[in-house]
Amino acid sequence: MKISGQAIIGFGQTASSPTAKTQELFVANNPRTGEALSPSFYSSGPDDVNLAATLADKAFAIYGRSSGRERGKFLRTIADKIDGAVDALVERAELESALPKPRLIGETARTSGQLRLFAEVAEEGSWVMARIDRPDADRKPVPKPDLRSMLYPIGPVAIFGASNFPLAFSVAGGDTASALAAGNPVIVKAHPAHPGTSELVGQLLLESVRECGLPEGVFSLLFDSGNKVGIALVRHPLVKAVGFTGSRNGGRALMDVAAARPDPIPVFAEMSSTNPVFILPGALREKSDAIASGLHASVTIGAGQFCTKPGMVFLPEGVSDEPFIAGLQRLVHESKQFNLLTAGIRSAYKSNIARRKTEKGVKLSAERTAPGNGNEIGVDPVLFETDVRSFLQNPELAAEVFGPATLLIRHTNRSDLLDVASKLEGHLTATIHGTEEDLREFSDLLAILKTRVGRIVFNSFPTGVEVSHAMVHGGPYPATSDGRTTSVGSQAIFRFCRPICYQGFPQAALADELRDGNPLQIWRMVDGKMTRDAIS
Ligand code: NAP
Repeated sequence: MKISGQAIIGFGQTASSPTAKTQELFVANNPRTGEALSPSFYSSGPDDVNLAATLADKAFAIYGRSSGRERGKFLRTIADKIDGAVDALVERAELESALPKPRLIGETARTSGQLRLFAEVAEEGSWVMARIDRPDADRKPVPKPDLRSMLYPIGPVAIFGASNFPLAFSVAGGDTASALAAGNPVIVKAHPAHPGTSELVGQLLLESVRECGLPEGVFSLLFDSGNKVGIALVRHPLVKAVGFTGSRNGGRALMDVAAARPDPIPVFAEMSSTNPVFILPGALREKSDAIASGLHASVTIGAGQFCTKPGMVFLPEGVSDEPFIAGLQRLVHESKQFNLLTAGIRSAYKSNIARRKTEKGVKLSAERTAPGNGNEIGVDPVLFETDVRSFLQNPELAAEVFGPATLLIRHTNRSDLLDVASKLEGHLTATIHGTEEDLREFSDLLAILKTRVGRIVFNSFPTGVEVSHAMVHGGPYPATSDGRTTSVGSQAIFRFCRPICYQGFPQAALADELRDGNPLQIWRMVDGKMTRDAIS
């Protein structure tokens, strides 16, 4: 596989637009060494955005009407191609991300597994949530009409690749898989940190579109080292929804651009989360060693660059907290150094750590003391401590620090803990470590957390997000732009569709999903009851 540095627009892979030759070139950098990686990439121009959106809109007229079986075949073809190219993908992704090879091999499998999960969902077909209310001509005082509704794809979706998942949340990642499964063309804006990996995956997608006989424009991939292409995509009148994973600033900017359009469109942004962990007294007494080592692993896995990294840990003061803190400090001291994904993420981490060291009421609890990598580029894991009062007085302490750092927050009583929990903003996850007795005593805490997060974890850790049917990777703003959805797992498909109701239509004019005979044998709600039976 060869990387050309050129965007993929419809069936063409070329810096094709009249303005392309004047567009800027950019390169990816190796985060381990800072060296520039070849080749250079063309930033796409406004004509490229327009061409990709126009082709996507045309393709939608055909792809939006494709069957679940056709979409399943397409998604499985992409998955097979990704599995077949794992060596090339991992080799380039490792250079561009500094993520370890085993992690990237796992991420490749996660990416193809995710595509196959959405293939199953599309093929099975019940995701469209078909509902049929049968008519009743004799109903008084007015006859009841025949009503049939189901979910339909929304139109071209703009997707922003994430820096921290060069495969599983980038070109053929979860956002793309869910949008394609629902019947939407996709235009990906590659993350500038891993354009080579993005192009390689984009080539596999392009081959899949051709092999499956799908129309030109079902997939396009654009590059940009800045914000212009992303903003132009979100503004483009033919783009109908947006999927994003990244910073709060970036996600919020795109939400505002989408809301300012003459026809506002939904932005599904997964942004920052600090993922509070609550260690309750019984658990702290009974298993402080296990919690300390599990917490350290969860904070440092992927160099702390996971949206589910636990960034604040609440624990009771004076209830055997010293062995726990000493254990955690020892693990931090002995930690290795880490390379972060980009120079921007590294400098943000360093300045966040430097600022936190000076915050009032915050104590540096531990920092790596083991030998480092011997270069300037590595960053150290850091543990901070504070108390509930200082935490509540300083909103900065609740902000995400992207990288291997966390903050212990000690409280002296139950009411302090409930007070601080009730003041948390939206997060993706919350974690409780407790005994059954703790859970009974702190049942109010669980009730509060239900209003703050999308997933509550008991006696485990929030990193490691299963891709499955029940998973919820979402949460109230600012964790996401829309806490009613998830960006991981099969329910992610519901972001990129909308319901349409047909009233009084003859059978022949209805989609298979809504016909009396239920030829696809999907689950439907008929007169309020779930069934796979045909209507006689
Ligand atoms: P980012 O800066 O939000 O960038 C993500 C993508 O959005 C990039 O393609 C970026 O393009 C684009 N973008 C950002 N701001 C934009 C704007 N105002 N208008 C149009 N496009 C925009 O995220 P990042 O590069 O991955 O990392 C930076 C920080 O994001 C990290 O330090 C971390 O705090 C956070 N982050 C959080 C998560 C999470 O899951 N919670 C994941 C990754 C990163 P350009 O880069 O070309 O501007």
